Amino acid sequence: MTKTIAIIGGGPAGLAAAEQLSAAGLAVTVYDAMPTFARKFLLAGKSGLNITHSEDFSGFAERFGQASTRLRPALDAFAPDDVRRWAAELGTETFVGTSGRVFPTVMKASPLLRAWLKRLEAHGVTLKTRHRWTGFNADGYRFATPDGEVSIRPDATLLALGGASWPRLGSDAAWVPWLKDQGIAVRDLQPANCGFDVGWSEIFVERFAGAPLKSVSTTSDAGTYPGEFVISKHGIEGSLVYAHSAALRDRVLRDGKATLTVDLMPGRTQDRLARDLARQDAKASFSNRLRKGAGLDGVKASLLRELSANANRLTPEQLAELIKALPIPVLRPRPIAEAISSAGGIAWSDIDERYMLKSCPGLFAAGEMIDWEAPTGGYLLTACLATGRAAARGIRDWLSDS
Ligand SMILES: Cc1cc2nc3c(=O)[nH]c(=O)nc-3n(C[C@H](O)[C@H](O)[C@H](O)COP(=O)(O)OP(=O)(O)OC[C@H]3O[C@@H](n4cnc5c(N)ncnc54)[C@H](O)[C@@H]3O)c2cc1C
Repeated sequence: MTKTIAIIGGGPAGLAAAEQLSAAGLAVTVYDAMPTFARKFLLAGKSGLNITHSEDFSGFAERFGQASTRLRPALDAFAPDDVRRWAAELGTETFVGTSGRVFPTVMKASPLLRAWLKRLEAHGVTLKTRHRWTGFNADGYRFATPDGEVSIRPDATLLALGGASWPRLGSDAAWVPWLKDQGIAVRDLQPANCGFDVGWSEIFVERFAGAPLKSVSTTSDAGTYPGEFVISKHGIEGSLVYAHSAALRDRVLRDGKATLTVDLMPGRTQDRLARDLARQDAKASFSNRLRKGAGLDGVKASLLRELSANANRLTPEQLAELIKALPIPVLRPRPIAEAISSAGGIAWSDIDERYMLKSCPGLFAAGEMIDWEAPTGGYLLTACLATGRAAARGIRDWLSDS
């Protein structure tokens, strides 16, 4: 008899698994709580859909921190070049942007998703929306549907329910207590690739919320990175902040506070800045000295004054030092609902090499709901697709062994 497989969660990880399993002739049904599939994938398309990254593969595979070793076999089997080939087969050509990030040439997700769902239907996959998994019961897996409660007992099940960011798109992490009740270790879900709160003055927020700080470099425990970030109503956000977000978050957890150090003028050395500032007329206004001596005005000059009330009384040497290493005191990460992704999830110790939950034979997991995190840059989607496919191979192996 044909084995039946339920995939719960129709985001990139679940759909990638469905594609593999249905291509192998297995009977697959994908269930999703929402009225349509892969809403977060579609939202990622609004900013161009950074689907993978073109950096050297060994560097790529190290971007997942402590989880890199466990993720490596899945990434080896579906590397960034495979992602690009797969998208092209579905009619979506990609290009490498200046930063090495890879995007569809159409800079959106909808054509790729449409072609993907069409392929799944052509493979005989049953797609069920508005089916919200509500936990385990004696009959197997229980769902709330518009027609009432239903229960299923498939031969194998894949959970691909995502993390906890942007819950209104479907991934609300309701699964955490249900898996914990089964004795499965789940590490707390934390915001990743997120903004941070800073105690700005009202006047600074009024004038500068939304203003970008361009061509700066920033340092935290994560290292030093060039780029730009944005002053927000609550603090700071943007890709350069996301690059530091895991390090800042972990330091806030450990010490109750953290600091992001900004070099406002990375193109000039501290000595040169001190000399240029010393040449300014001491009677000129502070703004003029900053603008003419250090090339700082607008949001950069105001940030300096916001964070150092007595900046105008500093010597040229002290001012140069501050411009090169301005500490922004960070209070806390923004709430997980606003984050691009989440860290934490099902502990690797409870998942075997086949992506099966060790204490629940026949139950597998893939995607962001597993305990790994990565920076933005296409790493997230690649790992979701790769783990979905790896779990599909695991399911096939397990079904043929059992
Ligand atoms: C604004 C934004 C932009 C992003 N841009 C990028 C980018 O450019 N590049 C990149 O690599 N990553 C990006 N990401 C991250 C990326 O989209 C996610 O990492 C990825 O979608 C996670 O895939 P997943 O399949 O694990 O989970 P999800 O995509 O979250 O899918 C999980 C699915 O499970 C369903 N579900 C959840 N609970 C239940 C339940 N109880 N019953 C039934 N169904 C349920 C949900 O409805 C959802 O469809 C972005 C994220 C956001 C928020």
